[in-house]
Amino acid sequence: MPVATQATVKTLTPQQIKHTGTRIILCNAYHLSLRPGEELIFRLGGLHRFMAWPGPILTDSGGFQVFSLASRVEVSDEGASFRSPVDGRTFFFTPEKVIEIQQRLGADVIMPFDQPIAYPCEKHMAEVALERTLSWAERSLAVHRQQTKTMEQILFGIAQGSVFADLRERAVERLVEMDFEGLAIGGLMMGEPEQMMWEALEVSLRAAPYGAPRYVMGVGTPEDIIRAIYMGADMFDCVLPTRNARNGWAYTSQGIVKVRNSQYAADQRPLDPRCDCYTCQNFSRAYLRHLIHAGELLPLSLVSIHNLHFYQQLVAETRTRILEGTFASWARQLWMGKK
Ligand SMILES: [Zn+2]
Repeated sequence: MPVATQATVKTLTPQQIKHTGTRIILCNAYHLSLRPGEELIFRLGGLHRFMAWPGPILTDSGGFQVFSLASRVEVSDEGASFRSPVDGRTFFFTPEKVIEIQQRLGADVIMPFDQPIAYPCEKHMAEVALERTLSWAERSLAVHRQQTKTMEQILFGIAQGSVFADLRERAVERLVEMDFEGLAIGGLMMGEPEQMMWEALEVSLRAAPYGAPRYVMGVGTPEDIIRAIYMGADMFDCVLPTRNARNGWAYTSQGIVKVRNSQYAADQRPLDPRCDCYTCQNFSRAYLRHLIHAGELLPLSLVSIHNLHFYQQLVAETRTRILEGTFASWARQLWMGKK
């Protein structure tokens, strides 16, 4: 899922997003509740209408944003109060409130309010945050189940537990008992060493039964995504393809091309000779580099189109290879070759 935090995949129109092969996008309930507010979006016909995106939308609950972006955060078992970085207003998010926000927004897949915890943290603190997240998950589910027949929304559970294997297992087991429609693994890439991140992910995925979609939140590079699929993950959101595109970094079949570099000044080739995206079919590296150095806006869109297309092609190839039975050897080669 490309990230459309503020109800826009930065620099791209919905038509351009669609042409990259994207089917579902991610928006953020926290950001949209703070500005322009879920009531306004509801009155204007809901998030799909508001941003003119006809496909599915997943909204993240904002747990991560409250605990990483807001100021004066005070958390209790009831919920979390915080000051909005937009206008200084005080908000109080409870699990019930966050489900209501997402119902007003009208997303297709919604997430419960959770409390991720930054690394390093003591195990005791991780356990408190996990137990709170699990009780919030139950309360979210209760609100969701009252509404679900009319709303037709899907609610996932979010597993936390920091880097502690037993907490990670407990998180997944309890969420599975609660019977969510999908399972998200959150709280990864919170500053922990890479090896610990993979161990936490592996233990979480191993505890999850087959059948429900498994969503790994906020991951990652193309190699990370292949590696996580190898471990059993199904869904991802990540800002890397679009954020790095706006810095002039293109993901290609030959690795990253930093197109602002002088070596591309007269390079006639497209970003990726194997790519059939609009950008690669029409524009040279030299042209893109010129636009970037001239401070033009167009390369932000053009490289974003390419990077999203690259990611979507990668997961499309993954789906094909899984069906053909050639995924495992290809995946091992792909991510182990880069180590
Ligand atoms: Zn391309």
